[in-house]
Amino acid sequence: MFEERLVLARNRMAVDGVDVLLLSAGADLPYFCGYEAMPLERLTMLVVPREGQATLVVPHLEAPRVVERPDVFDLATWRDGEDPIGLVIDRLPGGWNGKLVAAIGDQTWGGFVVDLLNARPGLSFTRASKVTAPIRMVKDEAEVKALRSAAAAVDRILSEVQAGEVPLAGRTEVEVAAQIGRRILDEGHSRINFVIVASGPNAASPHHEPSEREIRFGESVLFDIGGTMPGPGGVGYCSDITRCVHLGEPQTEFADAYEALRASQAAGVMAATIGTPCEEVDAVSRRVLEEAGYGRYFVHRLGHGIGVEAHEQPNLVAGNNLPLDLGHVFSVEPGIYVPDRWGMRLEDIVVATADGPDPLNRIEHGLAVVDA
Ligand code: ZN
Ligand code: ZN
Ligand code: ZN
Repeated sequence: MFEERLVLARNRMAVDGVDVLLLSAGADLPYFCGYEAMPLERLTMLVVPREGQATLVVPHLEAPRVVERPDVFDLATWRDGEDPIGLVIDRLPGGWNGKLVAAIGDQTWGGFVVDLLNARPGLSFTRASKVTAPIRMVKDEAEVKALRSAAAAVDRILSEVQAGEVPLAGRTEVEVAAQIGRRILDEGHSRINFVIVASGPNAASPHHEPSEREIRFGESVLFDIGGTMPGPGGVGYCSDITRCVHLGEPQTEFADAYEALRASQAAGVMAATIGTPCEEVDAVSRRVLEEAGYGRYFVHRLGHGIGVEAHEQPNLVAGNNLPLDLGHVFSVEPGIYVPDRWGMRLEDIVVATADGPDPLNRIEHGLAVVDA
Protein backbone atom coordinates (compact mmCIF):
# COMPACT_ATOMS: atom_id res chain seq x y z
CA MET A 1 0.00 0.00 0.00
CA PHE A 2 2.67 2.55 1.00
CA GLU A 3 5.03 1.38 -1.78
CA GLU A 4 2.29 1.97 -4.36
CA ARG A 5 1.56 5.40 -2.93
CA LEU A 6 5.22 6.38 -3.15
CA VAL A 7 5.32 5.20 -6.77
CA LEU A 8 2.41 7.54 -7.50
CA ALA A 9 4.20 10.37 -5.69
CA ARG A 10 7.42 9.81 -7.66
CA ASN A 11 5.49 9.81 -10.93
CA ARG A 12 3.99 13.17 -10.05
CA MET A 13 7.38 14.49 -8.92
CA ALA A 14 8.75 13.66 -12.36
CA VAL A 15 5.88 15.49 -14.06
CA ASP A 16 6.16 18.52 -11.75
CA GLY A 17 9.98 18.74 -11.86
CA VAL A 18 10.35 17.99 -8.14
CA ASP A 19 13.67 16.39 -7.11
CA VAL A 20 12.82 15.43 -3.56
CA LEU A 21 9.75 15.22 -1.36
CA LEU A 22 10.19 16.23 2.30
CA LEU A 23 7.35 15.26 4.65
CA SER A 24 7.18 16.21 8.30
CA ALA A 25 4.23 17.01 10.62
CA GLY A 26 0.82 16.65 8.99
CA ALA A 27 -1.20 13.99 7.23
CA ASP A 28 1.03 13.39 4.19
CA LEU A 29 3.56 11.50 6.28
CA PRO A 30 1.20 8.81 7.67
CA TYR A 31 -0.49 8.56 4.28
CA PHE A 32 2.77 7.78 2.48
CA CYS A 33 4.66 5.77 5.11
CA GLY A 34 2.30 4.83 7.93
CA TYR A 35 4.10 6.96 10.54
CA GLU A 36 2.69 10.09 12.12
CA ALA A 37 5.22 12.61 13.41
CA MET A 38 4.76 14.22 16.79
CA PRO A 39 4.19 17.87 15.87
CA LEU A 40 6.87 19.07 18.29
CA GLU A 41 10.15 20.96 18.10
CA ARG A 42 12.29 17.92 17.30
CA LEU A 43 12.56 17.27 13.57
CA THR A 44 10.91 14.25 11.97
CA MET A 45 11.21 14.16 8.18
CA LEU A 46 10.69 11.59 5.45
CA VAL A 47 13.13 12.29 2.62
CA VAL A 48 11.89 10.87 -0.68
CA PRO A 49 14.31 11.44 -3.57
CA ARG A 50 12.76 10.98 -7.01
CA GLU A 51 15.02 7.98 -7.43
CA GLY A 52 16.49 5.80 -4.71
CA GLN A 53 15.42 4.74 -1.25
CA ALA A 54 13.45 7.02 1.07
CA THR A 55 14.73 7.76 4.60
CA LEU A 56 12.71 8.55 7.68
CA VAL A 57 14.70 10.89 9.95
CA VAL A 58 13.30 10.66 13.51
CA PRO A 59 14.36 11.69 17.00
CA HIS A 60 16.01 8.74 18.76
CA LEU A 61 13.53 8.90 21.64
CA GLU A 62 10.58 8.62 19.24
CA ALA A 63 12.05 5.73 17.22
CA PRO A 64 10.14 3.11 19.30
CA ARG A 65 6.90 4.55 17.82
CA VAL A 66 8.02 3.76 14.27
CA VAL A 67 6.73 0.61 12.57
CA GLU A 68 9.74 -0.18 10.41
CA ARG A 69 8.97 -0.82 6.75
CA PRO A 70 12.33 -1.53 5.06
CA ASP A 71 10.66 -1.82 1.65
CA VAL A 72 9.32 1.72 2.07
CA PHE A 73 12.02 3.63 3.98
CA ASP A 74 15.33 3.38 5.85
CA LEU A 75 15.43 4.78 9.35
CA ALA A 76 17.94 7.41 10.50
CA THR A 77 17.70 8.52 14.11
CA TRP A 78 19.29 11.52 15.79
CA ARG A 79 19.92 12.23 19.46
CA ASP A 80 19.44 15.49 21.32
CA GLY A 81 22.51 17.62 20.66
CA GLU A 82 22.98 16.21 17.14
CA ASP A 83 22.05 18.05 13.94
CA PRO A 84 18.94 16.62 12.25
CA ILE A 85 19.04 19.20 9.45
CA GLY A 86 22.45 17.77 8.45
CA LEU A 87 20.93 14.28 8.29
CA VAL A 88 18.31 15.56 5.86
CA ILE A 89 20.82 17.54 3.80
CA ASP A 90 23.04 14.42 3.51
CA ARG A 91 20.16 12.56 1.91
CA LEU A 92 19.21 15.17 -0.67
CA PRO A 93 20.03 14.20 -4.25
CA GLY A 94 22.40 16.19 -6.44
CA GLY A 95 25.46 17.15 -4.40
CA TRP A 96 26.07 20.11 -2.07
CA ASN A 97 24.85 22.95 -4.19
CA GLY A 98 23.26 23.53 -7.57
CA LYS A 99 19.59 23.81 -8.25
CA LEU A 100 17.37 21.43 -6.31
CA VAL A 101 13.59 21.60 -6.07
CA ALA A 102 12.08 20.15 -2.90
CA ALA A 103 8.36 19.73 -2.29
CA ILE A 104 8.00 20.30 1.43
CA GLY A 105 5.02 19.34 3.60
CA ASP A 106 2.57 22.24 3.91
CA GLN A 107 2.46 21.93 7.72
CA THR A 108 6.23 21.73 8.29
CA TRP A 109 7.41 24.15 10.99
CA GLY A 110 8.63 27.39 9.42
CA GLY A 111 11.81 27.09 11.51
CA PHE A 112 12.86 23.88 9.74
CA VAL A 113 12.14 25.43 6.34
CA VAL A 114 14.46 28.33 7.21
CA ASP A 115 17.18 25.97 8.50
CA LEU A 116 17.06 23.85 5.33
CA LEU A 117 17.20 26.91 3.07
CA ASN A 118 20.22 28.24 4.97
CA ALA A 119 22.00 24.88 4.92
CA ARG A 120 21.74 24.06 1.22
CA PRO A 121 22.58 26.66 -1.47
CA GLY A 122 20.46 26.26 -4.59
CA LEU A 123 17.57 24.65 -2.74
CA SER A 124 14.11 25.94 -3.52
CA PHE A 125 10.76 24.85 -2.19
CA THR A 126 7.33 24.14 -3.53
CA ARG A 127 4.36 22.90 -1.52
CA ALA A 128 4.21 19.13 -1.06
CA SER A 129 0.44 19.30 -1.55
CA LYS A 130 1.11 19.99 -5.24
CA VAL A 131 2.42 16.41 -5.40
CA THR A 132 0.36 14.76 -2.66
CA ALA A 133 -3.13 16.30 -2.84
CA PRO A 134 -4.09 14.88 -6.26
CA ILE A 135 -3.09 11.42 -4.99
CA ARG A 136 -4.76 11.69 -1.58
CA MET A 137 -7.94 13.09 -3.10
CA VAL A 138 -8.79 9.83 -4.87
CA LYS A 139 -9.89 7.28 -2.28
CA ASP A 140 -9.76 3.56 -2.92
CA GLU A 141 -12.32 1.07 -1.64
CA ALA A 142 -10.61 0.46 1.69
CA GLU A 143 -10.40 4.20 2.36
CA VAL A 144 -14.06 4.73 1.51
CA LYS A 145 -14.91 1.86 3.84
CA ALA A 146 -13.00 3.56 6.67
CA LEU A 147 -14.72 6.88 5.96
CA ARG A 148 -18.06 5.08 5.89
CA SER A 149 -17.55 3.56 9.32
CA ALA A 150 -16.36 6.90 10.73
CA ALA A 151 -19.51 8.52 9.31
CA ALA A 152 -21.73 5.80 10.77
CA ALA A 153 -20.16 6.41 14.19
CA VAL A 154 -20.98 10.14 14.26
CA ASP A 155 -24.40 9.36 12.78
CA ARG A 156 -25.14 7.23 15.85
CA ILE A 157 -24.10 10.05 18.17
CA LEU A 158 -26.11 12.82 16.54
CA SER A 159 -29.15 10.59 16.04
CA GLU A 160 -29.23 10.26 19.83
CA VAL A 161 -29.18 14.04 20.06
CA GLN A 162 -31.98 14.28 17.49
CA ALA A 163 -33.99 11.75 19.49
CA GLY A 164 -33.69 13.94 22.59
CA GLU A 165 -31.56 11.39 24.45
CA VAL A 166 -28.92 13.99 25.30
CA PRO A 167 -30.31 16.56 27.76
CA LEU A 168 -29.63 20.12 26.60
CA ALA A 169 -31.76 22.67 28.45
CA GLY A 170 -30.00 24.10 31.49
CA ARG A 171 -26.59 22.67 30.58
CA THR A 172 -23.69 24.65 29.23
CA GLU A 173 -22.30 24.15 25.72
CA VAL A 174 -19.05 22.97 27.30
CA GLU A 175 -20.80 20.27 29.35
CA VAL A 176 -22.69 18.95 26.34
CA ALA A 177 -19.53 19.09 24.19
CA ALA A 178 -17.60 17.05 26.77
CA GLN A 179 -20.28 14.36 26.71
CA ILE A 180 -20.31 14.28 22.90
CA GLY A 181 -16.50 14.10 22.86
CA ARG A 182 -16.56 11.01 25.06
CA ARG A 183 -19.13 9.45 22.73
CA ILE A 184 -16.84 10.13 19.73
CA LEU A 185 -14.16 8.00 21.41
CA ASP A 186 -16.67 5.35 22.60
CA GLU A 187 -17.83 4.93 19.02
CA GLY A 188 -14.37 3.82 17.88
CA HIS A 189 -12.54 7.01 16.97
CA SER A 190 -8.96 7.25 18.20
CA ARG A 191 -9.10 11.03 18.34
CA ILE A 192 -11.60 13.86 18.76
CA ASN A 193 -10.98 16.48 16.09
CA PHE A 194 -13.64 19.02 17.01
CA VAL A 195 -16.94 19.31 18.83
CA ILE A 196 -18.89 22.46 18.03
CA VAL A 197 -21.94 22.95 20.23
CA ALA A 198 -23.41 26.35 19.40
CA SER A 199 -26.66 27.44 21.02
CA GLY A 200 -28.94 30.31 20.06
CA PRO A 201 -27.02 33.32 18.70
CA ASN A 202 -23.70 31.51 19.13
CA ALA A 203 -24.49 29.44 16.03
CA ALA A 204 -24.16 32.60 13.95
CA SER A 205 -20.39 32.05 14.26
CA PRO A 206 -19.65 29.07 11.98
CA HIS A 207 -16.61 27.90 13.98
CA HIS A 208 -17.93 28.76 17.46
CA GLU A 209 -15.96 27.32 20.42
CA PRO A 210 -18.26 25.73 23.01
CA SER A 211 -18.67 28.23 25.86
CA GLU A 212 -20.11 28.45 29.36
CA ARG A 213 -23.37 29.70 27.89
CA GLU A 214 -26.36 27.81 29.24
CA ILE A 215 -28.62 26.27 26.62
CA ARG A 216 -32.23 27.47 26.94
CA PHE A 217 -35.60 26.13 25.94
CA GLY A 218 -36.96 27.82 22.81
CA GLU A 219 -33.67 28.05 20.95
CA SER A 220 -31.69 25.97 18.47
CA VAL A 221 -28.42 24.14 18.97
CA LEU A 222 -25.95 23.40 16.17
CA PHE A 223 -23.69 20.34 16.48
CA ASP A 224 -20.69 19.96 14.17
CA ILE A 225 -18.55 17.04 15.30
CA GLY A 226 -15.76 14.87 13.97
CA GLY A 227 -12.97 12.53 14.92
CA THR A 228 -10.39 10.21 13.41
CA MET A 229 -11.10 6.49 13.04
CA PRO A 230 -8.30 3.93 12.49
CA GLY A 231 -8.28 2.78 8.85
CA PRO A 232 -6.17 0.77 6.38
CA GLY A 233 -2.48 0.51 7.26
CA GLY A 234 -3.20 1.92 10.73
CA VAL A 235 -3.75 5.35 9.16
CA GLY A 236 -6.71 7.33 10.50
CA TYR A 237 -9.71 8.57 8.49
CA CYS A 238 -11.98 11.41 9.59
CA SER A 239 -15.65 11.95 10.26
CA ASP A 240 -17.45 15.30 10.02
CA ILE A 241 -21.17 15.95 10.34
CA THR A 242 -23.44 18.88 11.22
CA ARG A 243 -27.03 18.74 12.44
CA CYS A 244 -29.26 21.25 14.21
CA VAL A 245 -31.95 20.58 16.79
CA HIS A 246 -34.52 22.97 18.23
CA LEU A 247 -35.70 22.92 21.83
CA GLY A 248 -39.43 23.23 21.41
CA GLU A 249 -41.20 24.26 18.21
CA PRO A 250 -39.21 26.77 16.16
CA GLN A 251 -40.62 30.12 15.10
CA THR A 252 -41.74 30.40 11.48
CA GLU A 253 -38.73 32.50 10.49
CA PHE A 254 -36.33 29.81 11.67
CA ALA A 255 -38.37 26.90 10.29
CA ASP A 256 -38.62 28.57 6.87
CA ALA A 257 -34.90 29.24 6.76
CA TYR A 258 -34.24 25.63 7.72
CA GLU A 259 -36.36 24.36 4.84
CA ALA A 260 -34.31 26.50 2.44
CA LEU A 261 -31.12 25.16 3.99
CA ARG A 262 -32.30 21.60 3.61
CA ALA A 263 -33.25 22.16 -0.04
CA SER A 264 -29.88 23.80 -0.68
CA GLN A 265 -27.97 20.90 0.89
CA ALA A 266 -29.98 18.28 -1.02
CA ALA A 267 -29.40 20.16 -4.28
CA GLY A 268 -25.66 20.29 -3.57
CA VAL A 269 -25.50 16.55 -2.92
CA MET A 270 -27.46 15.77 -6.08
CA ALA A 271 -25.19 18.01 -8.15
CA ALA A 272 -22.04 16.23 -6.98
CA THR A 273 -21.70 13.89 -9.93
CA ILE A 274 -18.48 12.78 -11.58
CA GLY A 275 -17.31 15.36 -14.12
CA THR A 276 -19.07 18.31 -12.46
CA PRO A 277 -16.60 21.07 -11.55
CA CYS A 278 -16.27 21.62 -7.80
CA GLU A 279 -17.29 25.27 -8.14
CA GLU A 280 -20.46 24.26 -9.95
CA VAL A 281 -21.60 22.11 -7.01
CA ASP A 282 -21.04 25.13 -4.74
CA ALA A 283 -22.99 27.33 -7.15
CA VAL A 284 -25.97 24.96 -7.37
CA SER A 285 -26.36 24.80 -3.60
CA ARG A 286 -25.74 28.54 -3.17
CA ARG A 287 -28.33 29.45 -5.78
CA VAL A 288 -31.07 27.76 -3.72
CA LEU A 289 -30.23 29.96 -0.72
CA GLU A 290 -29.88 33.07 -2.86
CA GLU A 291 -33.29 32.54 -4.44
CA ALA A 292 -34.83 32.10 -0.98
CA GLY A 293 -33.23 35.38 0.14
CA TYR A 294 -30.47 33.99 2.37
CA GLY A 295 -27.53 34.31 -0.02
CA ARG A 296 -25.70 36.97 1.97
CA TYR A 297 -25.87 34.86 5.12
CA PHE A 298 -24.03 31.90 3.52
CA VAL A 299 -20.50 33.12 4.21
CA HIS A 300 -18.26 30.14 3.41
CA ARG A 301 -17.50 27.60 0.71
CA LEU A 302 -19.93 24.71 0.26
CA GLY A 303 -17.51 22.00 1.28
CA HIS A 304 -14.07 20.48 1.63
CA GLY A 305 -12.45 17.15 0.88
CA ILE A 306 -11.98 14.72 3.75
CA GLY A 307 -9.76 11.71 4.32
CA VAL A 308 -6.71 11.40 6.56
CA GLU A 309 -7.34 15.06 7.29
CA ALA A 310 -10.67 16.55 8.31
CA HIS A 311 -10.13 19.28 5.73
CA GLU A 312 -8.26 18.39 2.55
CA GLN A 313 -8.79 18.77 -1.17
CA PRO A 314 -10.94 19.08 -3.19
CA ASN A 315 -12.67 22.22 -1.95
CA LEU A 316 -16.14 22.91 -3.29
CA VAL A 317 -15.57 26.62 -3.76
CA ALA A 318 -15.91 29.33 -6.39
CA GLY A 319 -12.74 29.32 -8.48
CA ASN A 320 -12.04 25.61 -8.24
CA ASN A 321 -12.86 24.23 -11.67
CA LEU A 322 -11.50 20.75 -10.92
CA PRO A 323 -14.08 18.21 -12.10
CA LEU A 324 -15.21 15.71 -9.47
CA ASP A 325 -13.76 12.27 -10.07
CA LEU A 326 -14.41 8.70 -8.96
CA GLY A 327 -13.38 8.32 -5.33
CA HIS A 328 -13.43 12.00 -4.39
CA VAL A 329 -14.91 12.37 -0.89
CA PHE A 330 -16.06 15.77 0.38
CA SER A 331 -18.51 17.57 2.62
CA VAL A 332 -21.63 19.36 1.40
CA GLU A 333 -22.41 21.88 4.12
CA PRO A 334 -24.35 25.04 3.35
CA GLY A 335 -25.15 27.34 6.27
CA ILE A 336 -27.16 30.43 7.10
CA TYR A 337 -25.68 32.77 9.72
CA VAL A 338 -27.62 35.81 10.91
CA PRO A 339 -25.23 37.80 13.12
CA ASP A 340 -26.29 38.11 16.79
CA ARG A 341 -29.47 36.13 16.18
CA TRP A 342 -29.08 32.54 15.00
CA GLY A 343 -27.23 30.21 12.67
CA MET A 344 -27.75 26.86 11.04
CA ARG A 345 -25.75 24.41 8.94
CA LEU A 346 -26.43 20.97 7.50
CA GLU A 347 -23.47 18.77 6.57
CA ASP A 348 -22.99 15.32 5.09
CA ILE A 349 -19.89 13.61 3.73
CA VAL A 350 -20.42 12.45 0.15
CA VAL A 351 -18.49 10.08 -2.15
CA ALA A 352 -18.49 10.60 -5.91
CA THR A 353 -19.25 7.18 -7.43
CA ALA A 354 -20.06 5.89 -10.90
CA ASP A 355 -23.68 5.54 -9.75
CA GLY A 356 -23.84 9.13 -8.58
CA PRO A 357 -23.25 10.91 -5.28
CA ASP A 358 -23.29 8.58 -2.28
CA PRO A 359 -23.86 10.35 1.05
CA LEU A 360 -22.13 8.57 3.93
CA ASN A 361 -24.19 10.30 6.63
CA ARG A 362 -27.69 8.92 6.61
CA ILE A 363 -29.49 10.31 9.66
CA GLU A 364 -32.51 12.65 9.55
CA HIS A 365 -31.89 15.89 7.67
CA GLY A 366 -34.94 17.74 9.00
CA LEU A 367 -34.84 20.03 12.01
CA ALA A 368 -35.30 17.73 15.00
CA VAL A 369 -37.52 19.21 17.69
CA VAL A 370 -36.54 18.06 21.19
CA ASP A 371 -38.29 18.92 24.42
CA ALA A 372 -35.48 19.19 26.95
ZN1 ZN B 1 -15.89 24.00 9.42
ZN1 ZN C 1 -16.93 20.01 7.31
ZN1 ZN D 1 -18.23 19.96 10.08
